[in-house]
Amino acid sequence: MHIIKLKKTILSLTVFLLLSVIQKTSYAEWFKANSAIMGTAIHVELWHTDKATAKKNIQRVFTEMKRIDSLMSPFKKESELSLINNQAASHPVKISSELFNLIQQSIKFSELSNGAFDITFASVGKLYDYRKKIKPTKKEIIKNLKSINFKNIKLNLKNKSIFFSQTGIQIDLGGIAKGHAVDNAINILQQHGITQAMVSAGGDTRIIGDKGGRPWLVGIRDPRNNNKSAVILPLSQSAISTSGDYERYFIKDNIRHHHIIKPSTGDSARELRSVSIIGTDSTTTDALSTTVFILGLKTGMKLVASLPDIEAIIIDNNGQMHYSTGLMPAK
Ligand code: ADP
Ligand code: MG
Repeated sequence: MHIIKLKKTILSLTVFLLLSVIQKTSYAEWFKANSAIMGTAIHVELWHTDKATAKKNIQRVFTEMKRIDSLMSPFKKESELSLINNQAASHPVKISSELFNLIQQSIKFSELSNGAFDITFASVGKLYDYRKKIKPTKKEIIKNLKSINFKNIKLNLKNKSIFFSQTGIQIDLGGIAKGHAVDNAINILQQHGITQAMVSAGGDTRIIGDKGGRPWLVGIRDPRNNNKSAVILPLSQSAISTSGDYERYFIKDNIRHHHIIKPSTGDSARELRSVSIIGTDSTTTDALSTTVFILGLKTGMKLVASLPDIEAIIIDNNGQMHYSTGLMPAK
């Protein structure tokens, strides 16, 4: 009698456990969505139990990206960034804390890289039009090159204003704004209780949690074949950004003119084809991928080695891959 009771209990317990496992796995699922914002492809994937809530959270990400675009786009006349570019050379301009902080962070990366990362690159960068295959003449570059210098950006911490101590300066946050947008999006998702998600904006991706107990598999594109991955990385709870010479470019007289500009020359940086930076937040990995691209292999890897929790995969001009020490197999 006792044994039968025990058997029954075990059986019902097993059924209960099985049911709850089935319910758990079928209950939650991955929700995905794409959009085109900030001139780039936005992709969101998140794990949720409820379709309507998942969709709402995806919408929150897109809304945030649009907000940042209208604040920081150099192409929108009414953006706060355009206001700065139009007025900061004549008088200090009061700006939002958000933009102030991002410009402050940008200057930190300039200091860290001896001016390789410099948002005033746009003083020359604005003369390129990659879609129309337009590049400035040597004369035009020389004329505007003196306006590239982050030290001419004067930030007033007290009243959150910005002033350019020279005329002709233009700033552009294209090397850091998408990372900032991804970080903001992830923060918003976390505030709404999401623990497993992936958000990407062009070459900037951040993952929270993992993919159902396994890492996400993130591919780094082959810079000369957009259908191929050069390497696939297993990643969870991290950020990865790639800067490449294939994103926005044109070829004229056999020379590739692309969107990553060396502040010392006003010309595209040509030592590398792509730089991927792995770290913990997207603002940092975004700024660093652009920075290391400009610094080149040797100086770039040196900078990476000096930073905690930062790793890099660099593809040089011969297609050769280089890994930072933290990614190399232990000997
Ligand atoms: P994307 O994801 O748009 O390819 P990257 O992270 O590779 O962006 O950065 C390229 C962008 O960075 C350019 O489009 C430009 O807006 C900006 N940029 C280019 N040169 C510099 C520089 N020397 N310092 C800071 N930003 C730069
Ligand atoms: Mg970048």
